[in-house]
Amino acid sequence: MIKENLKKIRATLPESVTLVAVSKTKPVSDLQEAYDAGQRIFGENHALEMRDKHEVLPQDIQWHFIGHLQTNKIKYIIPFVTLIHSIDSANLLEAVNKEAKKHERVVDCLLQFHIAQEETKFGLDMDEAHQLLDSEAFKQMQNIHICGVMGMATFTDDEAEVRKEFKHLKEIFDTLKAKYFAEQSQFKEISMGMSDDYPIAVEEGATLVRVGSKIFGPRNYNV
Ligand SMILES: *Cc1c(COP(=O)(O)O)cnc(C)c1O
Repeated sequence: MIKENLKKIRATLPESVTLVAVSKTKPVSDLQEAYDAGQRIFGENHALEMRDKHEVLPQDIQWHFIGHLQTNKIKYIIPFVTLIHSIDSANLLEAVNKEAKKHERVVDCLLQFHIAQEETKFGLDMDEAHQLLDSEAFKQMQNIHICGVMGMATFTDDEAEVRKEFKHLKEIFDTLKAKYFAEQSQFKEISMGMSDDYPIAVEEGATLVRVGSKIFGPRNYNV
């Protein structure tokens, strides 16, 4: 099933879009099945779960952290994480930079923006982003690379609303690119779109889509 699901989704994605297989809560055997079908990029949202999976699965997997990251958990993922999608505060970025320095790494990060109508979703707003990117502290950070932006749309059937929110994230990307990252080719990623809305996200310029249940089936937990 996982193999067929992956094949179907890949067939719908343009070459410019990278599929992050969101494997949170799923057993290692499911990830191995996806790996055997050629998938190499996995997304997780709990630091310890990601570390444990990293330890037992093939070493050429690229691990993307997509959930809210607590500063006291950063140390578990910094040695191996490929991309952190969810930088939602200046403090978190500073803490990631500090930990990355200890490991002599430069860690790729995305700035997460609050684009949904729901109050609960984490993320920066534009004022906070400008404050962060204009700060002296940011200019001193040598062990992180900002590679783009990430956002989650409102959980709704209203396709027009979802599209509007993705357009907004694309505008945020374009604004930041022009003001801060015009010369930096690594600033190129727009992470948006999940199982129910990734086709819209792709139309609106996503470069990374984060798809879980459409690949692995529904998750068994209540949140
Ligand atoms: C769980 C999760 C996803 C994937 O959700 P699905 O609806 O199962 O595709 C994508 N992004 C984030 C940030 C998530 O937490």
